[in-house]
Amino acid sequence: MTENQLKEKIVEVVKREYRNGMVNMFEGNVSARFDGRYFITPSQVSKEIMTPEMLIEIDESGNVLKAPDGLKPSTEVMMHLEVYRLRPDVQAVVHNHSPYATAYALCGLPIESDCMTEMNLTLGRIPVVPYGTPGTDRIYQGFSDVIGSHCAMLLANHGLITFADDLELAYSYAEAAEKVAQTLFIAHQIGSPVSLPQQELEHMRAYGESKRVQRINRALEQARHISVPV
Ligand SMILES: [Zn+2]
Repeated sequence: MTENQLKEKIVEVVKREYRNGMVNMFEGNVSARFDGRYFITPSQVSKEIMTPEMLIEIDESGNVLKAPDGLKPSTEVMMHLEVYRLRPDVQAVVHNHSPYATAYALCGLPIESDCMTEMNLTLGRIPVVPYGTPGTDRIYQGFSDVIGSHCAMLLANHGLITFADDLELAYSYAEAAEKVAQTLFIAHQIGSPVSLPQQELEHMRAYGESKRVQRINRALEQARHISVPV
């Protein structure tokens, strides 16, 4: 993917989040890594009018390398960069305050279920990392405890962050987390969700985790290979 194609894809993902009710006009941000640099959505720009030219280019310390006049990177930029630092395999980060997932974060509850087959096979348990003030380094202090084997985390009192070695996949995790949270909420309104048979549940969780860890390790290996000078 070229630089321009990646920037177009970032904007397309942001607009898709907006259309799907995962972000409001001014909140949520998406970033991607490209050749040792990063592109991130600008702060305080409506998703409706965002274009690839509006994305901000930054380095790994958060210094702005390129920005259109008057635009600034999201205030949550350092949180994105911490994910890239901790996980060299990650190529894209999606952060939003999608309503159902964020409701779990507000209650300090992980998104987990012993009833849903798909979530145990794909996302696994989505943990909650401790609260930190947005825009400060305290927001990501709990990341290192859980980031190694997960693809999504809830930020206490705040929202959701997902990440992957591919932008489309990072978006898919965010969409899946929101849908899972919504379904669990509805199921609990209707009645008492029925657990899967214990042995089957354990098998699904183990299989799902091994697939996630395998993918992470494969991408980490590729990232190391790319970063080693020849
Ligand atoms: Zn946020």
